[in-house]
Amino acid sequence: MRIATTPAMLRQELAGPRQRLVLVPTMGALHDGHLALVQRAREAAGPAGWVAVSIFVNPIQFDRPGDLANYPQPLTEDLEKCRAAGVDLVFCPDQTAMYLPDRSITVTESLLSRQLCGATRPGHFDGVCTVVIKLFNLFQADAAVFGEKDVQQLAIIRRMVRDLDLPVDIIAHPTIREHDGLAMSSRNVRLLPEHRADAPRIHRALEATRSLLRCGERNAAPFLAAARKHLEDSPFLRIDYLEMVDAETLEPIGRIQRPAVMATAVFYGEVRLIDHATLLP
Ligand code: AMP
Repeated sequence: MRIATTPAMLRQELAGPRQRLVLVPTMGALHDGHLALVQRAREAAGPAGWVAVSIFVNPIQFDRPGDLANYPQPLTEDLEKCRAAGVDLVFCPDQTAMYLPDRSITVTESLLSRQLCGATRPGHFDGVCTVVIKLFNLFQADAAVFGEKDVQQLAIIRRMVRDLDLPVDIIAHPTIREHDGLAMSSRNVRLLPEHRADAPRIHRALEATRSLLRCGERNAAPFLAAARKHLEDSPFLRIDYLEMVDAETLEPIGRIQRPAVMATAVFYGEVRLIDHATLLP
């Protein structure tokens, strides 16, 4: 497995005959969700193609300094996991390798990021778009795999690829969960034991509303009320947002008439977790 820590090293590794390259961008602290994306990347790259993983805790997408400072960074273990998963190339730069002190260009998304995480995390998706386009350019990737877990991020990346004519295929992978239903996240290791025990309620709260759908309910309000009640029964969590949006436009909706997404972000102490359920009319 090749490892590059600067853009110049990466360019060197990529010199020579061009292979099909499928990129999995991550912030590290790799778990089975990330590794499922790596496996999907291998399918897309083929046995002779290259699977590349970037590991970079992107400072410009963090809106809370404490979240950045406490983000887990077990690089040695991450590299071991990549090696075991058959990754061909890992790019793990530090901040100074990615951002010059006088950098002045940022990609801005101005529509899809008004809702959900974008509304409560100012600048977050501009930071995501900026780093992702840099990674696409650095790798000259043919395709990239993103998790559906970050449903808004996926929609925004697809929009960026469309609007900026980026020659990269975007491949989506379903959310990988722990046995108790909690969506895997690098932040889960930061949960206190009692919070970790409580956290599967996030998935349950969203999924339980499917019974309303089966009963023919289509108004968003009863879904949101049921999920909110389930979440608020927790003695620990604080809801950051709970919303029903159109799956494509991410605009809030009052009725489920096309594929919809009920999405939530909650805080357990300082740890913020997200999850969503896709509801089909
Ligand atoms: P992160 O390291 O959290 O920035 O995530 C890197 C990529 O892995 C993103 O495309 C995420 O959507 C994806 N990802 C993170 N957690 C999961 C999960 N539990 N299941 C599937 N994909 C995930």
